[in-house]
Amino acid sequence: MDGMPDATQVSSFWLAGRPATGDGRIVVTHPYDGRVVGAAAVPTQAQVEEAVAAAHAVRAQAAALPLHVRAEALAHVARRLGERAEELARLITAENGKPLMWARAEVARATSTFRFAAEEARRWSGHVQRLDTDPGAVGRMAYISRVPRGPVLAITPFNFPLNLVAHKVAPAVAVGAPVVVKPAPKTPLSALALGEILAETELPEGMFSVLPVPNERAAALVDDPRLPVVSFTGSGPVGWAIREQAPRKHVTLELGGNAAAVVCADADLDHAAARVGLFANYQAGQSCIAVQRVLVERAVYEEFVPRLIETVEGLVTGDPWQETTQVGPLISEEAAQRVQDWVERAVRGGAKVLAGGVRDGATFAPTVLAEVPDAAEVWCEEVFGPVLALRPFDTLEEAFALVNASRYGLQAGVFTRSLQVAFRANRELEVGGVIIGDVPSYRADQMPYGGVKESGVGREGLRSAMEDLTYEKVLVLTGL
Ligand code: NAD
Repeated sequence: MDGMPDATQVSSFWLAGRPATGDGRIVVTHPYDGRVVGAAAVPTQAQVEEAVAAAHAVRAQAAALPLHVRAEALAHVARRLGERAEELARLITAENGKPLMWARAEVARATSTFRFAAEEARRWSGHVQRLDTDPGAVGRMAYISRVPRGPVLAITPFNFPLNLVAHKVAPAVAVGAPVVVKPAPKTPLSALALGEILAETELPEGMFSVLPVPNERAAALVDDPRLPVVSFTGSGPVGWAIREQAPRKHVTLELGGNAAAVVCADADLDHAAARVGLFANYQAGQSCIAVQRVLVERAVYEEFVPRLIETVEGLVTGDPWQETTQVGPLISEEAAQRVQDWVERAVRGGAKVLAGGVRDGATFAPTVLAEVPDAAEVWCEEVFGPVLALRPFDTLEEAFALVNASRYGLQAGVFTRSLQVAFRANRELEVGGVIIGDVPSYRADQMPYGGVKESGVGREGLRSAMEDLTYEKVLVLTGL
């Protein structure tokens, strides 16, 4: 396995912009074969306290940071991510197990995220509102700017260990907010490598920390009033519990889903089968917008299914270090075992396995199920594995009702050539984003992104995240 990171290395964490070693270790293992790929230093409680105090202390200086300084720092990070792309991709593959091709795509996306942030930072501005529409306010006007709500606690999941950290750090720097990152314990190394690059910039001390603390200690960060913003990406139960734990904070939740794709009879079926087959299984299905439910118009169901099976069975599965591998292991053998249990329970309830359904260690074969009962977990919960459930439909009402019959609502994909259907989908589907002619898994990093219902609150995507991390402040000028 050429290019694996040095397993003996203990990555420093980042305390107010400086590397530190703490007093503990999180050992990081490779999901494909369990070998140790590195370790992250864990901060002591005193160091956590120091990092939070530094973020709090620097908040006014951060908010006043000239835009060109923010933009240059962000552009530097984008440049360095580009220069270190292959090394970082290998780090992501090592700690997360995702195939190299997807790890490289993730680094490219994180690079764009910082580049977009550098551009948005230069455009960050206020606006003027005349108040003399009111006869009592002649000679008065308002200057309205957006100011940071305060230091941000950024809690991130394992499935995109670099880009989801980028999605929180880049907009925070762009608006001038200090950020304390708590990465996922299974995948802290990518976030620590990003810290190394951030430390090369001219950002003031205290502007960022990366603290790989275990979950039990993360709760204290959520409680800390010096971090008034919590930006959380992860599972629903943890996210909603954080919101309850911190009712007075500004909490943004990017949570899970069981995304649906609707394939209408007028769609290009080859295209739909290729996209659905791939994006149910990329990241081994461990994406919040992976395709999980596929609704196919009955008139083309028999035609669509063999094409889908052909795509799914043609996916190269296994060793993530092979250049051609498209589907790697899940994050752990336990995760793959859970997926297997869910598939077996669906089958006991009447589901038919059309492809896959087998596990080898942490790897689960890309799986297609039909006749899945409504109550089966693989239909109504978030499977977070390479499993999709097919169902025919007769009318759009029925298809859209099935999409909406979910606790979740992140994104939905509709394969159609009809503009009327596209607009109707946009009106009727209860999701944060509707993708026409493609899978729900499509995300451009600069577009608004987020869920409704149990999939979360708030929006990310560069500009939206910058607005989310700030509030409008009004300066009224009188006597003009
Ligand atoms: P998770 O909820 O187990 O963990 C997410 C983060 O929360 C980790 O850093 C974890 O250490 C931390 N955490 C756990 N308990 C905590 C506590 N009590 N207090 C504070 N922090 C705590 O999620 P995961 O398994 O890492 O990631 C998978 C989930 O993330 C899936 O549900 C997936 O859909 C979701 N996700 C959502 C999006 C999105 O943008 N909507 C993107 C990616 C992943």
